[in-house]
Amino acid sequence: MELLAAGAAALGLPLTETQRARFERYRAALLAWNARVNLTAIVEPEAVERLHFLDSLTCTLPLLARWGTAAAIPSLRVIDVGSGAGFPGLPLKIALPQLRLTLLEATGKKAAFLTHVVAELGLTDVAVVAERAEVIGHHPAHREAYDVALARAVAALPALLELTLPFLRVGGVLIAPRKGELAAELAAAAPALAALGGAARPLVPITLPALADGRALVVVDKVAPTPAAYPRRPGVPAKRPLGVRSLGSAASTSPQLDAG
Ligand code: SAM
Repeated sequence: MELLAAGAAALGLPLTETQRARFERYRAALLAWNARVNLTAIVEPEAVERLHFLDSLTCTLPLLARWGTAAAIPSLRVIDVGSGAGFPGLPLKIALPQLRLTLLEATGKKAAFLTHVVAELGLTDVAVVAERAEVIGHHPAHREAYDVALARAVAALPALLELTLPFLRVGGVLIAPRKGELAAELAAAAPALAALGGAARPLVPITLPALADGRALVVVDKVAPTPAAYPRRPGVPAKRPLGVRSLGSAASTSPQLDAG
């Protein structure tokens, strides 16, 4: 775990022996389960460290900027939407054990892995919810209930905003690690931000040498309550992204923003 430990320290998160051991066990469980449940295409051990663990930990940058040190970050309520095999939520929980984490994952087999690995690592204050964000986003126990929402590789930005912003209290923050044409993506997401009560901060570029390939964090403040109509029914946020004209009506000018 040398690459991870060095990268985490560079972020301002020196890892203890217990935390390193948890990352080792997490990687072992991920690769063991991956033989029968399709969790990740990244299977080379150092790539897991770099592209899953360290990449996830970059989500701490806005928290460290706000509170100064890892120890000073309070026991924030955090939801990871579309968590898959636990990214980015579980690495954050290992690095910042004070977080109260909900892992939301629609696919039952992946949620089963999450339940397994949370127990295997002995983590407390972690809930696994096997449902779609469009459903849970209307549940009173979850709606506007979180300080931080995380989401990596779940959908194009307008759909991602609709799936995540309903979970945040006003004053909460969405942190989404992304790659690509982010300035253009953010510009295209302006109508979705306005409709959902979000305001984007400047992008946070990732400058760690191990991840120097154009990654950045999209950080969005929740500035107003999300109207009750959102999120729309399951599948609709990705199929008809807010503010993006359908290809049929404006094929030459509309960006292709369907969720991958
Ligand atoms: N976030 C993880 C990562 O970065 O490795 C997983 C990424 S994977 C490409 C997208 C995950 O989001 C899948 O596991 C999928 O089941 C989940 N997902 C997609 N749409 C969802 C929704 N509307 N509600 C809950 N989970 C969703």
